[in-house]
Amino acid sequence: MRNRASIDVLVLGAGPGALAITAALGKEKLRVEVLSSNDHKAPWPYTYGIWGEEVDELGLQDLLEHRWKNTVSFFGAGSAQPRADENKPTKHGCDYGLFDKRKLQHYWIKQCEEAAVKWHRGIAHNLEIDDLICTVTTTEGIKFKARLLIDATGYEPVFLKASKNWPIAIQTCYGVVGRFNTPPVEEGQFVLMDYRCDHLSPEEKEKPPTFLYAMDLGNGRFFLEETSLGLSPPVTLETLQSRLKRRLAHRNLEITALEHEELGLYLPMNMPLPDLQQPVLGFGGAAAMVHPASGYMVGGLLRRSPTVAKVIAKALFDPNASPAAIASKGWAALWPPELRRKQALYQFGLEKLMRFEESQLRDFFIGFFALPSKQWYGFLTNTLSLSDLVKAMWIMFLKAPWNVRWGLMGMQGRELYLLWQFLRPQIKK
Ligand SMILES: Cc1cc2nc3c(=O)[nH]c(=O)nc-3n(C[C@H](O)[C@H](O)[C@H](O)COP(=O)(O)OP(=O)(O)OC[C@H]3O[C@@H](n4cnc5c(N)ncnc54)[C@H](O)[C@@H]3O)c2cc1C
Repeated sequence: MRNRASIDVLVLGAGPGALAITAALGKEKLRVEVLSSNDHKAPWPYTYGIWGEEVDELGLQDLLEHRWKNTVSFFGAGSAQPRADENKPTKHGCDYGLFDKRKLQHYWIKQCEEAAVKWHRGIAHNLEIDDLICTVTTTEGIKFKARLLIDATGYEPVFLKASKNWPIAIQTCYGVVGRFNTPPVEEGQFVLMDYRCDHLSPEEKEKPPTFLYAMDLGNGRFFLEETSLGLSPPVTLETLQSRLKRRLAHRNLEITALEHEELGLYLPMNMPLPDLQQPVLGFGGAAAMVHPASGYMVGGLLRRSPTVAKVIAKALFDPNASPAAIASKGWAALWPPELRRKQALYQFGLEKLMRFEESQLRDFFIGFFALPSKQWYGFLTNTLSLSDLVKAMWIMFLKAPWNVRWGLMGMQGRELYLLWQFLRPQIKK
C-alpha cells in the first residue's frame, strides 16, 4: 500500500488570495489545511478598493465600509481641449467602494471555519513532490503532506516559478489619512486619478508622471495618496512624498491632524505568468492574478476561486492522480487561453503607458474614460470577453490623438513577445 496524504489540499499563506481559494475549496467539501507565517486573523495591511457594480454583481455590497457616487478624475486640459478645461473633472458615473477589510477577511474565514479548515502557523521552507504526495517542511522541521499544494504566498512566492524573468513594473504610493485646513476634495467625492501637475517645474514634468488618488472618508477625514502607475525601477518614496507635499502647498492645503501615513507601498503590476506546467498550483498575487492595468485583484479572486476549486475537487476524485496532474487541471482552470491572451494584451498596454510622457498619459486617459462606461469598466475589472477587449482597445486607438497613437504603435522591449503571447499563448517555459 503506497503512502497517502490525509490532506487533500495544503494552502500556503493567509492573505486574500489564500483565504479566497481556501473558502472555495471548503465549499467543495475537501480536506483543506492552511499554513501561514502570520496569524490568519491578523489585520491586513492594505485597503482594498473595488467598483460598485463589480461588488454588486458579486452580491457583496454589505462588505463595503465606504461607497462613493461622486467619482471623478482630473486629467487637466488634454492637447485637444481648451486651456479653460484644466480643472474640469472627468465624471465616471460609476460608484466606487472601499472594502471594510475586517469584514472581507471574516467573510472568507467564516466559510473556512464552516468547512472545518485547519490552520497552522509556520514558514514553509522545503518542498518534495513524489507521484502521490507533496511534502512541505517548515523552518522548524514540521512536515505537512497533501495531495495538492497551493502556493498563495504573495508576490515573492516561496515555491512557484515564473514562466519568464523580466524587470517588474512596480506601482508605488505614499498616502496620508488625516484632516486638512480646507477639504482637499469635494464632500462625498472619490478621485480615481488627479494628473494635474501645475505644481511641478518644467524639468519635473519630463520625469515619470505621478497622480493623486483621493477620497472623502467622512467626518472631516480624507485619504490622499500620491501614486506612480507602475515603473521599473519604481518611483521612490521620497519623490512621492515631496510631490504630495508640493501638490498640497500649491492648493494652499495643510494637514492639520495626521492620523496615518502609508509609506512606500509596493505593488508589482506586470508579473509574468507562472510556469503553468509546474506541479504546484498558485493563487493570488503569487499566480500573477493582479490586474496589470489597475493593480486590483479582489474582484478577480472572488470570481475565479469557485471555478478553480470545482476543477480541483473533480481532479482529486481520482485517487491515483499525481500532484502534477491535479495542479495541471488547476492551472488550466485558472489561466485558460482566453485569460492568458487578455493578460498579454493588458501587459502590452502597460508597457506602452510606462513609456508615455505626462501629456501623452493625460490624453490617453481622457480618451480611455470617454469610451462607453461598459467598455472602460469592463477593461478595468477584466470582465470583457477577449473580442470585446480588443474592440475597446481598437476604438480607443482610432479615437486617440496622434501623440497617443504614435506612442501606441512603436514596438520596444518585450512588446513583441507579449503580442506573440496574445496571438499564440504558450504554457511552456
Ligand atoms: C499597496 C497595495 C494596494 C492594493 N490595493 C488593492 C485594491 O485597492 N484592490 C484590490 O483588489 N487589490 C489591491 N491590491 C492588490 C492585492 O489585492 C493585494 O496585494 C493582496 O494583498 C494580495 O494578496 P495575496 O494573498 O496574493 O498575497 P499577500 O496578501 O501578500 O499574502 C501572502 C501571505 O503568504 C504568507 N507567507 C509568505 N511567505 C510564507 C511562507 N514561506 N510560508 C507560509 N506563509 C507565507 C504571508 O504571511 C501572507 O499571509 C493592492 C496591493 C498593494 C500592495
